[in-house]
Amino acid sequence: MNREVDHIQAGPSSREVQEASTQQAREKQLATQEYQVDLPRIERAVREILLAVGEDPDREGLRETPARVARMYAELFRGLRLDPRRHLKKVFTEKYDEIVVVKDISFESVCEHHLMPFMGKAHIAYLPGGKVVGLSKLARVVEDVSRRPQVQERMTELIADLLIEELDAKGVAVVVEAIHTCMTVRGIRKPGAVCVTSALRGAFRTNPSTRAEVMTLIYNGRQ
Ligand SMILES: [Zn+2]
Repeated sequence: MNREVDHIQAGPSSREVQEASTQQAREKQLATQEYQVDLPRIERAVREILLAVGEDPDREGLRETPARVARMYAELFRGLRLDPRRHLKKVFTEKYDEIVVVKDISFESVCEHHLMPFMGKAHIAYLPGGKVVGLSKLARVVEDVSRRPQVQERMTELIADLLIEELDAKGVAVVVEAIHTCMTVRGIRKPGAVCVTSALRGAFRTNPSTRAEVMTLIYNGRQ
């Protein structure tokens, strides 16, 4: 698993080195566990669901399904154990005081009411207050935040709050457009219906002309 540790243990090593490497291995194992979910527990639950709907979880096509679904959930919900603020720690001092916009950041998330995917695009704008951040970091924040069960409204607000706090920005606007599979494949079945949410902070909330400017920038070129 850990090549470095394996190598140390395989070679001639003093007791101190061995103890240090054991400690290191233990720490790495703990860190790994922190990012993992209880896979066997999900497997048991998925097997139960298959039984409950009248399927045979032991037939050939379904035999691997519980384990596959468990790994899928680990991936879809990995953001639960990640702090999106980590991407906003490295900022640059800049005099630039015009609006910065990053449009069309695609994401996939999971609706907490049905555990069905919702996916779409996030558009982020901020008015720097002396600090700017690498543009790719905004996409990384969206990625971390999207990998958890949630509702689109809260996801939108969470991104806006993170940015206004970490960047000391004068204003932040976040617009999220998404298609919810819980609406398109079940219930009212409205394929193509797009849900739009927005969260405005600072000057974008209080100053009507600044708000109009940022909305024009975000929606410019759209029908
Ligand atoms: Zn839903």
